[in-house]
Amino acid sequence: EIRVRFAPSPTGPLHIGGARSALFNFLYAKGAGGKFIIRIEDTDLERSSRESEENILDSLRWLGITWDEGPDNGGPYGPYRQTERLGLYQEYTQKLLEQGKAYYCYCSEEELEAERQEQMARGETPRYSGKCCKLSPAERTKLEEEGRKPVIRFRVPENRDIIINDLVRGQVVFESNGIGDFVIVKSDGIPTYNYAVVIDDTTMKISHVIRAEEHLSNTPRQVLLYEALGFKVPFFAHISLILGKDRSKMSKRHGATSVVQYKELGYLPEAVVNFLALLGWSPVGEEEIFSMEELKEQFALERVAKNPAVFDMDKLRWINGIYIRKTPVERLATLALPFLQKAGYVSASPTPAELNWTQLVVAALQEKLSTLSEIVDHMDILAGETVQIENEEAAQILKEETFPLVIKTFREKIMSLPELTPDVVKPLLKAITKELKLGGKQVYMPIRIALTGQMHGPELFYLIPILGKELSLKRIHSVTS
Ligand code: GLU
Repeated sequence: EIRVRFAPSPTGPLHIGGARSALFNFLYAKGAGGKFIIRIEDTDLERSSRESEENILDSLRWLGITWDEGPDNGGPYGPYRQTERLGLYQEYTQKLLEQGKAYYCYCSEEELEAERQEQMARGETPRYSGKCCKLSPAERTKLEEEGRKPVIRFRVPENRDIIINDLVRGQVVFESNGIGDFVIVKSDGIPTYNYAVVIDDTTMKISHVIRAEEHLSNTPRQVLLYEALGFKVPFFAHISLILGKDRSKMSKRHGATSVVQYKELGYLPEAVVNFLALLGWSPVGEEEIFSMEELKEQFALERVAKNPAVFDMDKLRWINGIYIRKTPVERLATLALPFLQKAGYVSASPTPAELNWTQLVVAALQEKLSTLSEIVDHMDILAGETVQIENEEAAQILKEETFPLVIKTFREKIMSLPELTPDVVKPLLKAITKELKLGGKQVYMPIRIALTGQMHGPELFYLIPILGKELSLKRIHSVTS
């Protein structure tokens, strides 16, 4: 059975890179009819928080990534937080100690540092000498009496080639001699990442470990632990780094780095998912727009690139614009509402009229937006009583001979209607051209300028209902008097 996991450390909000790892795992599992599991790696007690865990889970939900087992919904191999699994790690540590595959180390930071300095002075790559491995029980007792709190180190076998057949990177070989005996349990009894991850992935029956490339260098340590514990080694797939457009590692400097920030900037979850999928994975054909369902079907690890992925913000905006235009107006209005509320155009508990207005605004702007937050940039046209004529050309149009008649007819017609909706405004505008025997442009342009001061903007049949009778009349009054 295919079982994969996303194992975030809850030390901050969900990062775009983490979201990509989660997505690749999710798509791989769902494409293969397997299970996707969330495990919270909260062994860094200082930096971990429940708040970050919640943020990570909320961001995943927002993206539409769901999990079969996890800290909130449980599952057969729980608990799904490492701090709730400490007893399990202890059992395995006991075995490793008994078998002489691990040992207590009492070296202080200062001693370790002095050792490193000596090794470097001799031109060697620093690594732990392994001296505590040879301590006699009497020596250990003495050190304990001094009040030293030991760590537990794994005894790395010598002269071993560690071969990793990575599903993305191909065969990667490491030498065990380059790895010093490393810490598996800290002096406070908390396991280190490399140790806990091996026990968890095994006991949670993980078949494929798909994670960021930065963990490739940890993998030989983990493989040695799998072997020492008598565990089967899972398949590994290390996915490439994400770089900014300048080819340096993606960081705050390149823009938003957390998923929540993209939500707040007005990106749609479907667009973010689509964009993240393309960060390293390439589809078979030319098509670049995929729904989650299509991604589940088409995603394949064989088509994940070894070379770094470049985070192209313009491409994300382009994809987001496509999704904005694809989304039905009702749903888009729901997503856009918070942006209008935040900017004060709609109240906190919107009335039916405000909701209706929001839908009209969204319909009017749908073709023009790349992000939902851009809605507020259009508000000087859509809200407010007065009008600024944008330029001389627009001002000239208001001085045309036919203008007074056009605007008088327009006023009369809208005043005669009980309610302005796109459905009634469309024929109304047509009727004016007929009645006055004028071309469309001679009617629509002066009305547009009288209402907004600008020569371009949303369709009149949306604009007029958005303004409503009162604002329309006030604006006309402000340019004609
Ligand atoms: N907690 C690790 C991280 O956040 C997980 C690494 C792994 O997937 O093994 O990077």
